[in-house]
Amino acid sequence: MDLVTPTLPAAALGAELAGSLAKHWGIHSLRPLQQPAIQAVLEGRDSLVVLPTGGGKSLCYQAPAVVRDGVTVVVSPLISLMKDQVDGLRESGVDAIRLDSSLSADERFKVEKQLREGKVSLLFVSPERLMMYDFMALLQEIGVNSIAIDEAHCISQWGHDFRPEYRQLKRLRELFPRASLHAYTATATERVRKDILEQLGLVNPEILVGNFDRPNLTYRILPRRGDLLSQVLDVLARHKGEGGVIYCISRNDVNTLSAQLNKAGVKAMAYHAGLTPQERTKTQDAFLEESCDVVVATVAFGMGIDRSNVRFVLHTGMPKSLEAYQQETGRAGRDGLEAECVLLSSGQDFFTWKGLMERAARENQSEQAHLDSSIEHLNEMWRYCRSSVCRHRSLVNYFGQEYDKPSCGACDHCLGETVMVDDADIIAQKIISCVARVKGAYGIGYYVSVLRGEKIAKIKERGHESISTFGLLKEHDAQNIRDWVYQLIGHGVLRHVEIESGFGKPISVVQLNKQSMEVLRGEKKLRLLAPVKPKKGARGGASSGASRKDDDGWDGVDRELFEELRSLRKSIADEIGMPPYIVFHDATLREFARSRPATLEQMRGISGVGDAKLRNFGEKFRECIAAYGEAT
Ligand code: ADP
Ligand code: ZN
Repeated sequence: MDLVTPTLPAAALGAELAGSLAKHWGIHSLRPLQQPAIQAVLEGRDSLVVLPTGGGKSLCYQAPAVVRDGVTVVVSPLISLMKDQVDGLRESGVDAIRLDSSLSADERFKVEKQLREGKVSLLFVSPERLMMYDFMALLQEIGVNSIAIDEAHCISQWGHDFRPEYRQLKRLRELFPRASLHAYTATATERVRKDILEQLGLVNPEILVGNFDRPNLTYRILPRRGDLLSQVLDVLARHKGEGGVIYCISRNDVNTLSAQLNKAGVKAMAYHAGLTPQERTKTQDAFLEESCDVVVATVAFGMGIDRSNVRFVLHTGMPKSLEAYQQETGRAGRDGLEAECVLLSSGQDFFTWKGLMERAARENQSEQAHLDSSIEHLNEMWRYCRSSVCRHRSLVNYFGQEYDKPSCGACDHCLGETVMVDDADIIAQKIISCVARVKGAYGIGYYVSVLRGEKIAKIKERGHESISTFGLLKEHDAQNIRDWVYQLIGHGVLRHVEIESGFGKPISVVQLNKQSMEVLRGEKKLRLLAPVKPKKGARGGASSGASRKDDDGWDGVDRELFEELRSLRKSIADEIGMPPYIVFHDATLREFARSRPATLEQMRGISGVGDAKLRNFGEKFRECIAAYGEAT
């Protein structure tokens, strides 16, 4: 199963381009919007292309660059991202080159020489480097066909990942009047899209917005419980031997969890901005080379991750926006095969983020200007977590698109893993009346204790043992009640506020508001989620008994052969010093293990097998498949 069913034969682009797609990328059909996106570049018309992660944006500027004379400049925010792309392209026989601050003066000189000699099709640069005077002059001298701006949302302060250095790109239009400009992003709401168009001054652009749904991802959102480790191990157990990323909100959490995992026998490496560059590179390389499958990280780990066979992304805390969530979960299943995204959330995450955002705003003027926007993004994320609407549908709607299927078959709600509480109104009334009866300002934990009827000293001292709401929810566990309180706050029928404690540090307390009364009077109806654990054996996209046939990706694949091919791929990758996915993607290996090509000619027809790769690796894989056939 492919990520998005390719719809168009590559031949629609003409023989030359189709030939080049087959030769360099082993691609024979195009994904949605790739054809008009490529056409826009070929015709020199500005464009804005919005496709989800894994949707195939890079091909839209890479393919035209290969068939045209002259150089295409690609602006990319991260050195690591550039390096991976350039390595991958060179391995496929494309003249790609990069220029960034990590190169020595000698290497830079070489790049400039190659540019002058017209030996480069694709030049990857950072925005800072591109705007440097000398370099700009060189590019103007040699002439540039088109400029591709990757991760274009970084230019907008309405986005979630604003980068001031992207603002300089505003001048590109005037500096390169003859080049066409092409912006690419995976995450852009209407407002960000408009901002990108304006900032870059795109002229009469072709605007192409793809389908945001990622049907191969299964989304699950579960309340985080006291022992995080066992929840994490539950997820890992479904993905033995597979690649995955575990995101934590803080560096401390990263260190703690990775230590716990290693102690529990899981080889996991840590990644966050507090580690040395060497440590970070080591983790990143190990993950790409597949010598390590599990990385525990803050969101600092991400934009540079090009490993296409990430089979799960696990968030141990809520991300700060739906854009971030979409981008981070989007790193799973880029090869189009099934993958699982689990988010363990707690209402506490909302307040952790809010506190962090407010602190950042106090300390930094430019953050201050974005505070309202950041908190609105956070609110959207929190509503998403607590919502009982299909996850695919809510995400797609958030990005301004319709979702036309009645059920996705690949989220906790549609798989029937979450259930609504039958008597939500009564539970809500019990909780709210408890807040009303317990006069004073207390934190969530205290109300939970009163509702559970805990006979503890502070409840007795305050006389709350004798109020009518004491013990009203004693049959429920504390974690559930706490989660309901957070849900009620999420529904806006209780308030969570910070007050001065008199001890220097403010404390968070729960209070009533106008809507609370409406619930008490029975005028407002609510839904509350009662979470249950995913069924044993449930996998990413491959739930037992679900309506979807997500195991399609494995249909007819000989898994034993797949594992053999995988280890061959690893040894080749080690030998050439490249990550395994640069040799072949998982999807290609699965196809080998499914159709068992007996000749190189048969291999050539398989998606992902271009000329260079066939020449360099084909024979080894053919031998491996033949040897396996003899042995079995
Ligand atoms: P994005 O930049 O949109 O996140 P990429 O450009 O990295 O996505 O593409 C994701 C993967 O899909 C890459 O491995 C790429 O080679 C592959 N791909 C892109 N277009 C096609 C296609 N038409 N057919 C098959 N694979 C494709
Ligand atoms: Zn769903």
